[in-house]
Amino acid sequence: MPIILRAHHLLCFLGFRGLGYSKEFVENFKSIYKRVYLENSHIKIVSFPDRICRCCPNLTAAGCRFEEKVKMYDEKVMELLKVYGLSDLEDVLPSEAYSALKKVLPQQLESICRTCEWFVLGFCRESFYRKDLWKNG
Ligand code: SF4
Ligand code: SF4
Repeated sequence: MPIILRAHHLLCFLGFRGLGYSKEFVENFKSIYKRVYLENSHIKIVSFPDRICRCCPNLTAAGCRFEEKVKMYDEKVMELLKVYGLSDLEDVLPSEAYSALKKVLPQQLESICRTCEWFVLGFCRESFYRKDLWKNG
């Protein structure tokens, strides 16, 4: 079974530096990061709370506290993935997703993330401008 992943979390992996909302969140994030980003395990790309959200203090019974905003990030990433070569997001290899994202201008990725509270740290923005984008890409 593919791992269910919110689309914009593909971008969050790129700028991950071990920081997060809580200790539990970071531990859980690291384990999904390892499986998806480092081991290239199959994913299903969605726009609703995923296994990363499960350990986030911002997740309530009604969904993410910032659901409206993050859903918009997801939808923009999903649209770009489709435009740049992925017709089906149900069962995707992360390597395929990052090959598609490599074709997207860094400024386009930046514009998705600008309203995120983590954006000001600069790690994510910096990662969008890396030549390789993804270490396996
Ligand atoms: S700025 Fe926020 S949404 Fe964008 S990649 Fe970084 S952590 Fe994720
Ligand atoms: S802030 Fe929202 S989208 Fe981000 S990890 Fe937490 S619950 Fe998920």
